[in-house]
Amino acid sequence: MSLDSLEKLFIEELKDIYNAEKQLTRALPRMAKAADSDQLREAFTLHTKETEGQIQRLERVFKEVGQAVRGKKCKGMEGLIEEGKEKMEEEGEPEVLDAALIASAQKVEHYEIAAYGCLRTYAELLGYSEAAQLLQQNLEEEEATDKKLNQLAEGGINEQAASVGAEEEEEE
Ligand code: FE
Ligand code: FE
Repeated sequence: MSLDSLEKLFIEELKDIYNAEKQLTRALPRMAKAADSDQLREAFTLHTKETEGQIQRLERVFKEVGQAVRGKKCKGMEGLIEEGKEKMEEEGEPEVLDAALIASAQKVEHYEIAAYGCLRTYAELLGYSEAAQLLQQNLEEEEATDKKLNQLAEGGINEQAASVGAEEEEEE
């Protein structure tokens, strides 16, 4: 297809994020399972639920713009999830693995924030006001998730990960 209108770009990006969110509904429960921190596990579990709601909002967006609900494989999300998975498969200290999980999750959230920011703006420009609102809601959930992950990292998980390394050095 040729991108000869903003409308077409909008639909392409919509299919991309729809598929990305679907991939995440499978990845987030695995991340919850892998988390050592209770708070981190709860954050992933909550965001799994939120992601299901985001998918429903996207389905309403497809409807508003008169398109069939259809995803298109999001290679960006596939790559981010694959990298996260590689880290989850590593052996290691739970505190460091939690820090790695947060980093992977924040990369995902930032990808989504970029995607929803663009989509929301395109929807506004194209006159799809209800779609723009729905996309804005998804954007805000991603931003809140990113913020929460930051709080968990800064509220102790990163420091605990740092102290694990320090202890090992002292023992050597
Ligand atoms: Fe999402
Ligand atoms: Fe998200």
